[in-house]
Amino acid sequence: MTRTTVEFIACPVCKHQSGFTTYQSINATLDPKLKQQIIDWELFKFYCLNCGEPRLVCYETLYHDMENRLMLYYIPAIDSREQEQYRIEEIFSQIKQVEGDRYSNSFDTYNFRIVSDMESFIEKVQIFDAGYDDRLVELMKFILAPKEEEDIQFSYDHMVFTKVGDDSYQFMFIYENRAVASLKFSEEMYEHFKSEYSGLLDDSYFVDEAWAYAMVSKT
Ligand SMILES: [Zn+2]
Repeated sequence: MTRTTVEFIACPVCKHQSGFTTYQSINATLDPKLKQQIIDWELFKFYCLNCGEPRLVCYETLYHDMENRLMLYYIPAIDSREQEQYRIEEIFSQIKQVEGDRYSNSFDTYNFRIVSDMESFIEKVQIFDAGYDDRLVELMKFILAPKEEEDIQFSYDHMVFTKVGDDSYQFMFIYENRAVASLKFSEEMYEHFKSEYSGLLDDSYFVDEAWAYAMVSKT
């Protein structure tokens, strides 16, 4: 179920207060428009009604994609993963009860994830929307990433899976919040990773670079 509240936010430029809808939970299957707005980076953007100044507002929200079996919790700042994990497990189990009754949904094969930055949040929304397994995508990023600076003509901090156009995807190389290069995401490569790693994948609330590193070290 999608739940919202309206908050008043002061514009950082002109100080004018404008209303802004925040989502405590988003059901992407019942409200597909919201999914698209997340992918377009628009859902969390606040526009001042007086001067038009845009500003990204990050707040805790639960994203639920019933079709692609994803329950994704976005917490902008995580102090202690252990503590948060405990709190979120409670929240997840409440939701399982409520939504399970309402939609006769079984959560057996669900993917439960927690992310702490907006970029990862939007990335996961897109990965599952495309029908991919985020663990395989993280492994691809980890293994395909150029490791030596001599191999590439640019510096980058990390890679992110992104949709381009209607039905193709790429990995963007991000440096200081800007995309500096891209690498085509190939379906064949994904299938290759799937056949290599499918049986070995651990499940975790936190599927990120550190997870991929731990996974690769084990194999
Ligand atoms: Zn303003």
